[in-house]
Amino acid sequence: MKLTNLTLSTPYLSLDPIFYDEVAPSPLKNPCLVSLNNDALKLIGLDPSQLNINELEGVLNGTLYLEGSRPFAMCYAGHQFGYYVPRLGDGRAINLGCVNGWNLQLKGSGQTLYSRQGDGRAVLRSSIREYLMSEAMYALGIPTSRALALISSDEKVARERWERGAIVLRLAHSWIRFGSFEYFFHTNRHKELESLADFLIAESYPHLIGTDDRYLKMFGEIVQSTAELIAHWQSVGFNHGVMNTDNMSAIGLTIDYGPFAFMDTFESGYICNHTDEQGRYSYDNQPRIGLWNLERLAHALSPLITAEKLQTELEKYPVFFTTHLMKLIRAKLGLESENEGDSDLFRSLFSVMENGQIDMTPFFRTLSRYNGNREPLLALTLAPNQLNEWLERYNTRLKSNTMSTQERHTQMLRTNPKYVLKNYVLQEAIDLAENNDFALVNNLLKLAQSPFDEHEKFEHYAMPTPMKFKNLKLSCSS
Ligand code: AMP
Ligand code: MG
Repeated sequence: MKLTNLTLSTPYLSLDPIFYDEVAPSPLKNPCLVSLNNDALKLIGLDPSQLNINELEGVLNGTLYLEGSRPFAMCYAGHQFGYYVPRLGDGRAINLGCVNGWNLQLKGSGQTLYSRQGDGRAVLRSSIREYLMSEAMYALGIPTSRALALISSDEKVARERWERGAIVLRLAHSWIRFGSFEYFFHTNRHKELESLADFLIAESYPHLIGTDDRYLKMFGEIVQSTAELIAHWQSVGFNHGVMNTDNMSAIGLTIDYGPFAFMDTFESGYICNHTDEQGRYSYDNQPRIGLWNLERLAHALSPLITAEKLQTELEKYPVFFTTHLMKLIRAKLGLESENEGDSDLFRSLFSVMENGQIDMTPFFRTLSRYNGNREPLLALTLAPNQLNEWLERYNTRLKSNTMSTQERHTQMLRTNPKYVLKNYVLQEAIDLAENNDFALVNNLLKLAQSPFDEHEKFEHYAMPTPMKFKNLKLSCSS
């Protein structure tokens, strides 16, 4: 199908007008396409070979409206760094409508009712990061919003310096956030709170429509998907950086990519967001912040569900989290079945990685070819004795496997990526793109989409991060 044959629907606009602001995107000056993601095009039923690039640019820049599109920004609130902010909302995101169950949203397309002091824009730097990382996370099997295309422009946007304005067209099955519920609860609009719950169920939990206790079941599913999402992040060394409740998806997706990072070397207290001085959103705090955020959501849902029932669901969080994390680590280590000593074995691996300043991606990748020869693994640590001791235990543990070494290798090479997009790699692509060279962005998209494959030309990106690029300081402004 062609782009101009798409028909969008806007079910969100059937809610009370208090839920949204109908607002037109403000076009950027001299837009140009940086990258297009054919995989995402197919999700909305488009044929890449029939795509007219000018039309796509027009849709991203808000100069071409698709059939049925009625652009709008969504209203929400949220706890930011522990403090409640009564009204946030899409300050620079504008929804276009829905097709094939995907809600299309422009990010960086100008001011809305919710922009507060902001300019409604996004810069090329942060747009490239979101565009590439959401596709990378998807390919790693981690629930996430997706990205369809990215445009740059000659529009000057003021941050710490002048930067280029850009727009990403992103997609999700839902853009509803924990903070969406908080807004209606804290403004005492319980009727609207219930409408939002019904809307979310119809949109994303349709199997719950008309069932008893559906709000409770919906909350239970959010608890589980959030716990599992964060287990995923922990398993690959991903630090989101801004886990405010307005950035928490009501369907357990990774959304709103900001100063995120894949750790360079494993460090449990790692903080990717340099404005987060207390480390509220550090890597090792992510699981407990997930629960804290769910508690805020539970509070917001209290007019619909009794406190005891909410509490019962919240208490399942640690079990969901631990069970899922154990499952993921077991797969990363190529272990077939559960074993009593696993949690201790896994915990000690994390301290081995921390003490040896190990880069976890090349470590697990190298381990995926482990056949008893320890040299390639020992070369990755500054604490070889500890790793040796751990490998002793691992050798013993592997004996309870029934599959062959070859089968284990095959399975592990499909589980442990060769490539994750470290910040320094993204920064190289950004530096080139700011000078209108988009080749690396497009190459990284391919890398992001096939992280388990070999890419000879990009072998260097699979190595531990070079010392001079470690812990790159990222600006939080975006
Ligand atoms: P974030 O932490 O990036 O998800 O943003 C937090 C809130 O600030 C959201 O409501 C955003 O829409 C809003 N926001 C962030 N940057 C801008 C901007 N440049 N203009 C308007 N609103 C913004
Ligand atoms: Mg946000």
